[in-house]
Amino acid sequence: MSDCVFCKIRDGLIPARLVMRDDRCIAFEDINPQAPVHLLFVPLQHIASNDAVTPEDRELVGHLVLAASRVAAERGIAHSGYRLVMNNGPDAGQAVFHLHLHLLGGKPLRKMG
Ligand code: AMP
Ligand code: ZN
Repeated sequence: MSDCVFCKIRDGLIPARLVMRDDRCIAFEDINPQAPVHLLFVPLQHIASNDAVTPEDRELVGHLVLAASRVAAERGIAHSGYRLVMNNGPDAGQAVFHLHLHLLGGKPLRKMG
């Protein structure tokens, strides 16, 4: 996707503070952090949103979750707690249409609902 900001970060065309990279995903610091730890886990493959995930992507989505839990442990927030968020569509305020998992933590987070 030529106009996708996360594809551009993946390809090194836009700078980002990269945290990890493997054969299936990258993780980097959110540019507008909402918590002391706010990272985005992004598949290398361009998938627009959770709605566009297919059964073939099952392992990839699990891979994002496992990568996030591993980095949460590395950042020392596994025990204090953290939140994983995937926004989908307008009501959730999805702004970037390349699938991504937010990892938020490092402080008590406001209760949802
Ligand atoms: P969402 O509402 O789930 O689509 O969130 C998109 C997230 O991407 C927001 O938290 C933005 O701050 C973040 N974001 C947008 N552009 C960049 C960028 N160039 N580098 C890092 N994070 C970004
Ligand atoms: Zn993309």
